[in-house]
Amino acid sequence: QFDYHTKQHPQIKVTLKSRSGRRCLATHVEHSTATNKSDSKKERVVILGSGWGGYTISRRLSPKSFSPIIISPRSYFVFTPLLTDTASGSLDFSNIVEPVRDPRAKVDFIQAAARAIDLKKKTILCEATVVRSGVTESPRTSEDERQVDEGPEASFKQPIKDLRHWEQGETFEVPYDKLVIAVGAVSQTFGTPGVRENAMFFKDIGDAKRVKRRVRECFELAVLPTTTPEMRKWLLHFAIVGAGPTGTELAASLRDFIYKDLMTLYPALNGIPKISLYDVAPKVLSMFDESLSRYAMDTMRSEGIDIKTSHHVKSLRWGPPGAPAPHEMDPKRCLTLTTKEEGEVGVGMCVWATGNAMTKFVSQSLHAVKIFPNNSIYTLDGKSGPVARAGLASWEYKKVPKTGALLVDGHLRVQLQNDAGQTAVLSDVFALGDNAMLETGAPPATAQGAFQEAKWLADHLNKRDLAQTPPFSFRNMGTLAYIGSEKALMQIPHDMHDPSKRSKYLPGGLTGRMARVVWNAAYITMSISWRNKLRVAFRWTLNRLFGRDVSRF
Ligand code: FAD
Repeated sequence: QFDYHTKQHPQIKVTLKSRSGRRCLATHVEHSTATNKSDSKKERVVILGSGWGGYTISRRLSPKSFSPIIISPRSYFVFTPLLTDTASGSLDFSNIVEPVRDPRAKVDFIQAAARAIDLKKKTILCEATVVRSGVTESPRTSEDERQVDEGPEASFKQPIKDLRHWEQGETFEVPYDKLVIAVGAVSQTFGTPGVRENAMFFKDIGDAKRVKRRVRECFELAVLPTTTPEMRKWLLHFAIVGAGPTGTELAASLRDFIYKDLMTLYPALNGIPKISLYDVAPKVLSMFDESLSRYAMDTMRSEGIDIKTSHHVKSLRWGPPGAPAPHEMDPKRCLTLTTKEEGEVGVGMCVWATGNAMTKFVSQSLHAVKIFPNNSIYTLDGKSGPVARAGLASWEYKKVPKTGALLVDGHLRVQLQNDAGQTAVLSDVFALGDNAMLETGAPPATAQGAFQEAKWLADHLNKRDLAQTPPFSFRNMGTLAYIGSEKALMQIPHDMHDPSKRSKYLPGGLTGRMARVVWNAAYITMSISWRNKLRVAFRWTLNRLFGRDVSRF
């Protein structure tokens, strides 16, 4: 073990340690690639994740008091409400991302995934992901599938089997004064056989690229003279499972892309393409009012989308229906989707969007606390005091029973619980966004919720009045959903259980083309940088004149 300071960055102190059975070097990053050299008096806020929660708080913390550092496997922020527009050629992928590194923002960045937290030493164990292929896609088998039987740190030392030699990341520890956990969520599959391996997910830029590429691939395969009429029908059947906002908007955008743009390129395939939207629930967009949900179903059916509500998907595999499954994936052919209600059906692509599950970092690494954090001020069942008073009871992270999300108090502080039923609140570890929830069940797992939490936390950390301020409360600003053919829905916030509290002006919400205008205006306004606001507006105008981008990369 030895220490050195790099000549280029004297503020970086790296400790190299040899580790048995591992080629890479474990380093302890004392001070990162700082933008500010005299940061020693500032509190170091380590933010895990560069999504809605992490990116927002990093941009809002006062650079005078804090030295924020983002640790995330991806070096950009994604404006998720417009992800469906990129998959359907309405926008370029670059129109909806913001780089985390920005010379104007005084925020450091390390491209790595957090693997474990040491609450006693106040360090994060990280694994570099700079050259890892596929980090822009939802995880399938790599870091989220590794065995963790021997605990998070033991599993973390084992090389991942399906990675190439150069993809194995270096490991290092990063110290923090304050920690914000905002690592989001992964797609929920409910353990449905074949889904994790064969379905496409829809959470990141890589996912949207794969969906667009596969749709174009299915059309090219379908027009080959060697393709049988039956296989052609299956290849051009696109299934989306999950009729929440993501699944519904994707079905609607793909419908526009296929029927308005692709059909002009493939007139011979007229009448064959089909989009099916599956859900176990009896209606689509169940978080909207009954009348809006009914309007969405009627409109989408009239546009030619097959709405298959009250359908249970049982499995997904490669190969056509009725034939034995091939040994491995065969993208030249179709998949078979099996439902309880209809049996086997051939599909060219299946996108799975049935909600959120916790990442393995949250579900497994953040589980038992080996050593209680002595150096952390905390409150034990409401009383402040040194941790020693908590005794030797075994502690673990407190979680929401159904979802596994971290349970936070009203000030977004992570809570621990012991086997004697006591609760402790960590004063310097916060969680927000999709990986956290308040005891009240708020806010919903939306960009709106993550944004409001991040803004609230940054404001109160800046003012240094967190302990005295009233708890965070979520303000519902309304919900929008695109349903195809230039029509959308807008739910005006109101108390669903009390009709007397409905909006005076639009008690039933807004529907149709007017709602689409609001949808467009809202997302241009909410896009983060002026560059992207203008690019999005310009591209939507260009699409009206020249159609969507049909290229296949
Ligand atoms: P995310 O934004 O998902 O960010 C998580 C970050 O953590 C990522 O940068 C990820 O790379 C990083 N990360 C993961 N693992 C680790 C690790 N181990 N260590 C460090 N970093 C890690 N919400 C709305 O309100 N309105 C909408 O219209 C809307 N549309 C949506 C459309 C789509 C297609 C999708 C997928 C979601 C949509 N949402 C919408 C939901 C919204 O995007 C999420 O609720 C929001 O992104 C949650 O923010 P977050 O910061 O918790 O997580």
